Amino acid sequence: MENQLEFESVKTNLERIKNQILDCEKSSNRPLGSVKLVAVSKFHPAESVLFAMDAGQNLFGENRVQEAAKKFDFVREQGRSPELHIIGQLQRNKVKEAVRIASCIESVDRLELLQEIEKQCAKIEKTIQIFFEIHTGEESKSGFESAESLYEVLKKCAAGEFPHVNPAGLMTMAPNTDDKELIRKSFSTLRNLRDKIRVDFPSLCINELSMGMSGDFPIAIEEGATIVRVGTAIFGQRNYDA
Ligand SMILES: *Cc1c(COP(=O)(O)O)cnc(C)c1O
Repeated sequence: MENQLEFESVKTNLERIKNQILDCEKSSNRPLGSVKLVAVSKFHPAESVLFAMDAGQNLFGENRVQEAAKKFDFVREQGRSPELHIIGQLQRNKVKEAVRIASCIESVDRLELLQEIEKQCAKIEKTIQIFFEIHTGEESKSGFESAESLYEVLKKCAAGEFPHVNPAGLMTMAPNTDDKELIRKSFSTLRNLRDKIRVDFPSLCINELSMGMSGDFPIAIEEGATIVRVGTAIFGQRNYDA
């Protein structure tokens, strides 16, 4: 009974978010279906992932590798094939596990991480997608701080230094504020940087813009997001004590 209720709520929430995404695509003259939804399941159990999959969701995001490995190994043992993005700050010693379980690492914020991702992917002969996390708002702590530092890394990518890595986009977190203009500015900064990279590095295909969470994804879509990462609005509040 309780399970049925939780399933219904995840399903209803997913339907609502997907409709909101469609509305935003329409109102900002974006092609329908051009924005992908990453369901952020961190701090929620494997059961919640299974509920979301039963409701048609296949793409998930997690920010802690150990938690994600345990959860998604279990889900895959059930014969399911979810796709997983790692979206949180990543330590070097977690990269091996991260590349095993994920199809994309959205939170690449330094060269050393990229080098370790390349090394671990080469070992298992896997090519992984990555996004570069960019610091665009005062309150977030992680991400490349400047276009210059990112450009150093992009040059190495363009030179073919990371054959097992496919850099495909940029990711950011807007500041945690009620100031909508500040949030919008953070998203437009990311889009402008992506547009500049497209011109300066035409050989790389940096197209994706992963931006927008439960509280701000409509603004992100207006500003060009191709991926939104929504947790709370799908799965409910996270219990950090559990
Ligand atoms: C937790 C998290 C989200 C989802 O946040 P909600 O506010 O619950 O939608 C999105 N992106 C990142 C990087 C996160 O860590």
